[in-house]
Amino acid sequence: MNPITKAIRIQTERTNEMEHSTPLFLTSSFCFDDAEEMRAAFADESDDNIYSRFSNPGVKEFTDKMVALEGAEAGYATSSGMSAVFASFMALLKKGDHLLSCNSIFGSTHTIIKKYLPNYGIEYSYISADKPEEWEAAIRPNTKMIYLETPTNPGLAIIDLEMVSALAKKYNLILNVDNCFATPVNQRPIDLGAHLVVHSATKWIDGQGRVLGGVVVGKKELVQDIYLFCRSTGPAMSPFNAWVLSKSLETLDVRMERHAKNALQLAKTLEHHPKISFLKYPFLPSHPQYEIAIKQMQNGGGIVCFDLKGGLESGRSFLNNLTMLSLTANLGDTRSIASHPASTTHAKLTDEERLATNITPGLIRISVGLEHVDDILADILQALENC
Ligand SMILES: *Cc1c(COP(=O)(O)O)cnc(C)c1O
Repeated sequence: MNPITKAIRIQTERTNEMEHSTPLFLTSSFCFDDAEEMRAAFADESDDNIYSRFSNPGVKEFTDKMVALEGAEAGYATSSGMSAVFASFMALLKKGDHLLSCNSIFGSTHTIIKKYLPNYGIEYSYISADKPEEWEAAIRPNTKMIYLETPTNPGLAIIDLEMVSALAKKYNLILNVDNCFATPVNQRPIDLGAHLVVHSATKWIDGQGRVLGGVVVGKKELVQDIYLFCRSTGPAMSPFNAWVLSKSLETLDVRMERHAKNALQLAKTLEHHPKISFLKYPFLPSHPQYEIAIKQMQNGGGIVCFDLKGGLESGRSFLNNLTMLSLTANLGDTRSIASHPASTTHAKLTDEERLATNITPGLIRISVGLEHVDDILADILQALENC
């Protein structure tokens, strides 16, 4: 079956009620018929559920769908995207290892790498998203993992997955990719050589701004280590959130198609707007890595970013002029969202770090929703008019 069909059809075994849709398994633990059955489960001789920090049928349904969508061998679902990222580092890196990443990564990921990993003796360094030639030179004898996002948040730089996975292979490194911005219906890093894929399921995967969640999928041995770390440390996904997210995956493909269609139309309309100094969308030929984007992505995704010539003040006044778009920290919602990274998500970086990742003072990020595209365009155009 095609992975898109699997995202609709994979389902936990029916209970005696013969329900068509999966019920909620709101239970912290599971019962055994006798001592022998219980012993076998604890000895890992059966795959019976024991306790929802380890596994839960609804969480398994969501995880199995993500494994199918990403073309992975195994997966583990977590309470948030950040716990998936954190677990993938803590389970696989140890004192003396070096983590190679890119300066364009999600703000909290940057905080984990820069502020916490050194406490455990784990070294790191960053290359620039727009300088692919830096990757190979930055690999050290103790490099263990390459971690990257593509497209990056919020600058929408595209990193060539085939190129980086060839390096990971050559130097025997783990390639760990945050595929949050693209989603597996748009880009499948494992097909291109990645060993692990992490997600914030909070974003496009939920798609309706209701729950937090995360997931890591990939090679069986690596996921097993991450699972063992998580089952002891406790960032398990809530069964309720898994129920919401599994339902969301049934419509991921159709939603992403429309998000991308609306985003492309918005990008084309605004590209030469007199108040905008530059606009980035992966599927516009003006994007600096357009050739890589069309090689590894099915569409340009749902995020558009642009820089206002008026800088910080224009950025703030643009947000204040919006009447329909939401001002909120999320992305990947049915409702279009505008954000101003320099004063919010990336405010903790220094000016230098921000500029190194192309976060200019006037940068606006739009998460393009599923409202009628005419309404999205009208609100943004009138807000630009007076900013
Ligand atoms: C939001 C986000 C995260 C963190 O996910 P949470 O679910 O908020 O913990 C990680 N990576 C990217 C690219 C994100 O956008």
